[in-house]
Amino acid sequence: MKHYYVDPALPQWKGNFHCHTTQSDGSRPPQEVADLYAQAGYDFLALTDHRKVVDPASIDAPLLLIPGIELDYVVTRRHAQAVHLIGVGVGLDLMSAPGVMESPQQGIDAIIASGGKVIFAHPAWSLNDPEEIEELKGISAVEVYNHMSDEPWNGRRGDSTAILDLCCAHGFCLPFVAGDDCHRYDVDQCHSALIVSAPELTREGVLSALEQGLVYASQGPQIKELFIEDGVVTVRCTAAMQIIFNSNAFFSRERVVNQRGVTEASYTLRPTETYIRVEITDVWGRRAWSSPISLR
Ligand SMILES: [Zn+2]
Ligand SMILES: [Zn+2]
Repeated sequence: MKHYYVDPALPQWKGNFHCHTTQSDGSRPPQEVADLYAQAGYDFLALTDHRKVVDPASIDAPLLLIPGIELDYVVTRRHAQAVHLIGVGVGLDLMSAPGVMESPQQGIDAIIASGGKVIFAHPAWSLNDPEEIEELKGISAVEVYNHMSDEPWNGRRGDSTAILDLCCAHGFCLPFVAGDDCHRYDVDQCHSALIVSAPELTREGVLSALEQGLVYASQGPQIKELFIEDGVVTVRCTAAMQIIFNSNAFFSRERVVNQRGVTEASYTLRPTETYIRVEITDVWGRRAWSSPISLR
């Protein structure tokens, strides 16, 4: 039986759930940021200022605007690590919730109590231990890629796959999103996106797709279809240079497909594989990351 993870029968919607405005430390006001993303072809957006929810009703939004926030903590165990949480679909009075800034778990609980969903932000930039992520209860998705954590501002800490592959190997497979995390709007904006599959472009449709894992992360390549049938994973995508099937297996000869213009690849699962995820790179070096699929 065919089981879809990206279903071609459902429309795909492109959004960004991580950016800052002049309401915190971003360089442009909320209205301009909304206009910028709409002009770049994004369907939905959350303004996620630090510790502040901007009311979407205050903006003449040319795209679906979902209220958001970024909460920040420092947790010290073997080393000091930042824990940043994105809340989307949150209540406007979230910051008045008791204990919201006291610990990451209390922040998560407050976001969920206000009606929102939680995205764990930029693990590679924060230097998070996998255990720190796995202990938190109530996370809906994680940023596999954060543009601001990459060049030119932060070296090459945008890609969190090394940490998240450990989480997946531990049996903790969270859906993947990408976020721009714009602060300066000369180079930060419109580089990455989360792509959700949902029947309609509504707040409920987008958040429910996120919760169900009907989402992938992308800098450009499009995943058109992803399914497993009889132990074989098949992906169809826009023209790529490379398709990689990542899993907990140390070595697999068939894992990497290198072929200019490749638009489809299949991979036969091994009995020892407990999760699988697909990574696609196009001719410009832009990547797309499917959400990991648990095989346990
Ligand atoms: Zn952050
Ligand atoms: Zn941020």
